[in-house]
Amino acid sequence: MIDYGKPLEIREVPIPEIRGEEVLVKIEASGLCHSDIHLMDGSIKIIPRFPFTLGHENAGTVDEVGEAVSGFKKGDPVVVYGGWSRKPDRFTWTGQEQLTNIEDWVGIGQTGGYAEYLKVPTFRYLLPAKGLDLVEAAVLTDAGLTPYRAMKKLLPTLYPGSTVAIIGCGGLGQFGVQYSKLLTPSVKIVAIDVDDNKLSIAQELGADVIVNSKSEDPVKKVKAVTDNEGAQGMIDFVGADATLAQAYSMGGRQSKLVVVGLAGGTLKFTAGLVNELEVTTSSWGSISELSEVLSLAKMGKIRARAKKIGFGEMNRSFEELAAGKVEGRAVLIPG
Ligand SMILES: [Zn+2]
Repeated sequence: MIDYGKPLEIREVPIPEIRGEEVLVKIEASGLCHSDIHLMDGSIKIIPRFPFTLGHENAGTVDEVGEAVSGFKKGDPVVVYGGWSRKPDRFTWTGQEQLTNIEDWVGIGQTGGYAEYLKVPTFRYLLPAKGLDLVEAAVLTDAGLTPYRAMKKLLPTLYPGSTVAIIGCGGLGQFGVQYSKLLTPSVKIVAIDVDDNKLSIAQELGADVIVNSKSEDPVKKVKAVTDNEGAQGMIDFVGADATLAQAYSMGGRQSKLVVVGLAGGTLKFTAGLVNELEVTTSSWGSISELSEVLSLAKMGKIRARAKKIGFGEMNRSFEELAAGKVEGRAVLIPG
């Protein structure tokens, strides 16, 4: 990335030198994320310097290890946890490094994986990927991880026979449906979107009820299929004014709304209600949650849909992504 608002350029850069706990990873796959579009167009202005290498969904093989590295050797397939930090605090101590400082994350504040090689500051950010398809594994580090954390936040509030509403059935929402099916198999899933194609994928993945909110009121529908109780859990993968209002209105007693989408909407939260509805956000995932996601993938329980692209197709792929035209995830294969 050479500046805000400019197309990406392909440039030769030196291969990083490795020492101490650092590991040089040969990138086999790096997922193109919608967040990159906000970074490239400057709507989030936190790139530390130009030129800068983006890419925070990374998987590859170990190419070189520093003298203080243990547990990994050249040739090992690995997944890179991306919520890096520079300074330990109580959130890093619990493995929730994504809650520390976004400006330390790989591909956002530190050189990322849209490259042939990535310097990872410590082997502690690597997870073994033996038995995993590395293209799928790259997608799991963000598009697969973020909905997993959101779903786990709902677990204490869901019970057999209750209903969960998944709002927005794109890449993340499709994982949301899969996690609900796996972690809470006796909970009814209502999938909501404005796109019939995405809804039919959600149905294939296990949604019990699908609602096109262009033609049908999702709040009424959820009330109708829950005997007027409302949903017990809602995940809003869009985060716009309209979806937040719908998610909030369809919540039942002691339900929880988890907001993941970055559309920047505002929720009007009315005080004095007696239903004890909780609202929270959910940010990326912890390193232990990523290991759980990888376990599900190793068992063949989750599917990631990916399309491989080369360096020369990056700018066009980002344009397609911005226009909502990418099915599943576009993933850079540098080799
Ligand atoms: Zn991302």
